[in-house]
Amino acid sequence: MREVVIAANWKMHTTPGDAGSLARTIAARTREAGVTRVICPPFVCLAAVRDALAESDPEVAVGAQNIHHEVAGAYTGEVAAPMLDGLATWVIVGHSERRRDAGETDAVIGRKVDRALDAGLRPILCVGEQLADREDGRATDIVDKQLRGCLGEADLARARDGGLVIAYEPVWAIGTGRNATGFDAAAMADAIRSSLDAMGWGDLAPSLPILYGGSVSSTNIAEILAEPSIDGALVGGASLKPDEMAGIVARAGITARARGLAPD
Ligand code: PEP
Repeated sequence: MREVVIAANWKMHTTPGDAGSLARTIAARTREAGVTRVICPPFVCLAAVRDALAESDPEVAVGAQNIHHEVAGAYTGEVAAPMLDGLATWVIVGHSERRRDAGETDAVIGRKVDRALDAGLRPILCVGEQLADREDGRATDIVDKQLRGCLGEADLARARDGGLVIAYEPVWAIGTGRNATGFDAAAMADAIRSSLDAMGWGDLAPSLPILYGGSVSSTNIAEILAEPSIDGALVGGASLKPDEMAGIVARAGITARARGLAPD
């Protein structure tokens, strides 16, 4: 049975002075058996969040929001995967805000997935179409192309053993308050598994966790997690609000129990 994951992407919010206390509050409000919780603060807050969670709830994992595609070198201002040793165990790669603002291509993102796996970080690979793509009926083609570009060269066994997770994040839903319907998110999750199957992932495709991301809230999480193809959420804006996270993770707990990942 696939794991249920709720990952918080704090984006460019919090400081080393306040991140630990927010992480502690969220951890305390989201204790839910069978749900994998991940908090991804900005790089400069990783140590504060790690220390706060180590004291209060070591079951909550810490993730970074990005890594460089090289291991070391003359890349001013960048952070390489091995530098996260002891700070994080997960990393988001290919977020649409980085595709948009840092010009990340599928090929570069594929290398980031590799660097994450090399360093023992669990990658959350983000894919998703623009609004125009969806309106033109090209959403699944675009996501298929992204998957091929990012994972076409991937070592499947390594990706499986390294705990790869895919986040379907339609760009038009991120930070807009307009989420995809559960039906559309599930249809894309099924399309993602079909693409991976066609890429030769075989048995791995059905076992790979697929999250939905895009304006997830405590109000719409039930519709999204009612879909058996969806295994959790990557949460942006709402992940900074303990009340919202409490509601989102509580609903994820229902899915975890229904899947037999936690006792009834
Ligand atoms: C995200 O940052 O990955 C995201 C989905 O943001 P939001 O929940 O704010 O739409």
